[in-house]
Amino acid sequence: MDNVKVNALMLRAVDYLENDKILTLLTAERGKLTAGIKGVKKAGAKLKFAAQPFCFAEYILAERGGRYTVIQASECESFYELRTDINKFYAACAVCEAAIALTYEGDESGEIFSDCVRTLSTMCASDEGLTLIGFLLSVLRKAGYGISLNACPACGASLTAADKMRFNMDTGSFCCWDCGTGVGVSGVTYGVLRAADGHADGAITDDGKKRALKLLKEYLAYKTDAKLNSLQEFIKLI
Ligand SMILES: [Zn+2]
Repeated sequence: MDNVKVNALMLRAVDYLENDKILTLLTAERGKLTAGIKGVKKAGAKLKFAAQPFCFAEYILAERGGRYTVIQASECESFYELRTDINKFYAACAVCEAAIALTYEGDESGEIFSDCVRTLSTMCASDEGLTLIGFLLSVLRKAGYGISLNACPACGASLTAADKMRFNMDTGSFCCWDCGTGVGVSGVTYGVLRAADGHADGAITDDGKKRALKLLKEYLAYKTDAKLNSLQEFIKLI
């Protein structure tokens, strides 16, 4: 039996047997993996924190026949602010949900791991909605499903001033209303996506943030078949 030390973010915990859980961890060193953790449902369990949502810790895993068990953990960051505010909590859960959907066991996911940790840290102190939109654009790109926020691919016109346009789920790009096929999208949605992606011309409104998150949810579900319950809950809250 070998012990493995990983820096990891706890993405999901599922109950197992009477007192155990099975964790999905996103690690910096070994990508996404699942690991059992024993006894954490008992009152006063020493490692209870290590099975909490978005716990960022150094985990020591025992490896046997390709299966991991958490035997020790020391917390690096608890993201306390994300546990005391319901909106921030759901936004943070949506980060974990997207990370689960966009990573695969056995693949190197170091960049997505760093992105998740950075995003959770940013969310503690700033607007969680806009931070979540920026995160989703970034991880979709890293996973190979990047959304193009450039000019219309058919005619080359700038879309920044358009009231209404289309978004093509297959290509992940926007175009003029008359230039292609796809779902209808308002200019405010596009503006928020541009702003969250770091462009100076994008305008941010509350309605736009909600619309942008709805579009990102549909797109992510279309590409990965993932159920995005936390993201859905967050959209309802804002
Ligand atoms: Zn066009």
